[in-house]
Amino acid sequence: MQELFGVIGNPIRHSLSPLIQNQSYQLNNIDAHFQAFHVEEENLEHAIKGLKAIGVKGFMVTVPFKNKVLPYLDEVSETAKKIQAVNVVHLFNGKYIGYNFDGRAWLSAVEEDMEINELTSQNVLLVGAGGAAQSIYYSLSQYPNVKIDIGNRTKEKADNVRRLNLSHKNTDVISLDEAEARIDKYDLLVQTTSIGMFPNVENTPINISSLKKDAFASDIIYNPKATEFLKQAKEAGAQIQNGMKMLASQNVLCIKKWTNNQVDVEEMLKTLEEHL
Ligand code: NAP
Repeated sequence: MQELFGVIGNPIRHSLSPLIQNQSYQLNNIDAHFQAFHVEEENLEHAIKGLKAIGVKGFMVTVPFKNKVLPYLDEVSETAKKIQAVNVVHLFNGKYIGYNFDGRAWLSAVEEDMEINELTSQNVLLVGAGGAAQSIYYSLSQYPNVKIDIGNRTKEKADNVRRLNLSHKNTDVISLDEAEARIDKYDLLVQTTSIGMFPNVENTPINISSLKKDAFASDIIYNPKATEFLKQAKEAGAQIQNGMKMLASQNVLCIKKWTNNQVDVEEMLKTLEEHL
């Protein structure tokens, strides 16, 4: 029987996941269908029970339910528990298990384009301290030799991100002004705030025009394809990556978890690029 997968959120109309997931099933002969479900917050528990009752093997979770789904799942991975946010659920042995793939997806996208197997002793600037930044920090902080500066408008939030992994001794919380003043020291920058997103495309959280030439700048925003942050990085001569590959990697990781099929990230990226 054809498997059913999905995404829950509110609003959900603009989700790209149905397009890229269904296209990928077709291209890879996976007998499945992916459906977006609009859920009202007061129905969240019933919705999750309903998905389980009809045998949905996996679903994604998007705004505003990433934190709210936790009490309704049977188990939650260590990473998702740490950051108290789930964006992927898998039905395994009759249990709904929650994961957070944001950090892993970002890391795999960056390592692929940096053409390295893993980060070593890079100096990294993480801009932002929201939900995506938490997951990315948690992944980055698994590398003890990577030096991480977290710069955010609200310092308390950056402190909370730092507390996700206190065993990482190489992390500092700094202001956005401090980050700007030492911008030429970084090898890798990751922009995780919503600043620069369509329609406010002229904005950037930080000026990075004096970035060093061999740096790598990643912005997890994918609309527009090149944010002001990435334009400045490119002008400085740095290598750049937008958020599309992270989004594609996230979907690749879901398909692997749900169906055990390893689909090609470049193929998924192509679908996204054609659409956006
Ligand atoms: P979030 O939890 O709401 O965090 C927003 C962040 O932006 C916070 O650090 C916040 O700083 C900062 N910010 C917002 N307005 C600001 C302003 N005017 N000045 C300075 N800082 C400001 O959001 P999120 O869920 O982490 O998502 C952030 C972005 O990542 C969104 O654009 C989202 O679409 C994108 N994203 C992409 C992917 C992907 O697969 N490519 C995945 C997840 C998210 P404060 O702490 O000071 O408020």
